[in-house]
Amino acid sequence: GLYNKKGTVVLLGLDNSGKSTLLHRLSQGQVTALQPTERPHIDEFQLGGVSFKAWDLGGHEAVRYLWFDFLSDSHAIVFMVDSADGERLEEAHWELSEMLSDANLDGVPVAVLYNKSDLPDAWPAEKLEGMLDLARLEARRPIKTFVTSVLKGEGYPDAFRWLGTHL
Ligand code: GDP
Repeated sequence: GLYNKKGTVVLLGLDNSGKSTLLHRLSQGQVTALQPTERPHIDEFQLGGVSFKAWDLGGHEAVRYLWFDFLSDSHAIVFMVDSADGERLEEAHWELSEMLSDANLDGVPVAVLYNKSDLPDAWPAEKLEGMLDLARLEARRPIKTFVTSVLKGEGYPDAFRWLGTHL
């Protein structure tokens, strides 16, 4: 699985999509819990040979220049979407396409998590797929979607298993 691999997995998504909750779940029982870092907006921890970092997209225009540094050593990307927040899907779509237009990220595998699937107003996967225009992003990297509920512990283990095959 992922845990005997080496690399850096970057968790991205709008604020409130579930990134910190996922990081905390992954780090549960680990000796090294989440560390406050010197860099703003970044959460990170280490699990075996894999380091996980999370970063909020959107609303931080002023620190966008930090991305290049941040993303340059990423071997896999997890993009989290709050699938129950229809009003911010367009913003999520924009952030995802903007990020993936960076040629440095060509070939880096992306797992898209449709999170909060436990909520009654979560959008169905097919609708989200169209909204995020994922087909267009597929040409330049392996990309796969996963319906998840981080709250219930569902879906994301599959995503990390899949990413593990690409690390
Ligand atoms: P972040 O800003 O992306 O780090 O998002 P957080 O991890 O702080 O989560 C934002 C809110 O969504 C918190 O109140 C979480 O408890 C909640 N949340 C995260 N994942 C899920 C989920 O799968 N289902 C539900 N219902 N709520 C979730």
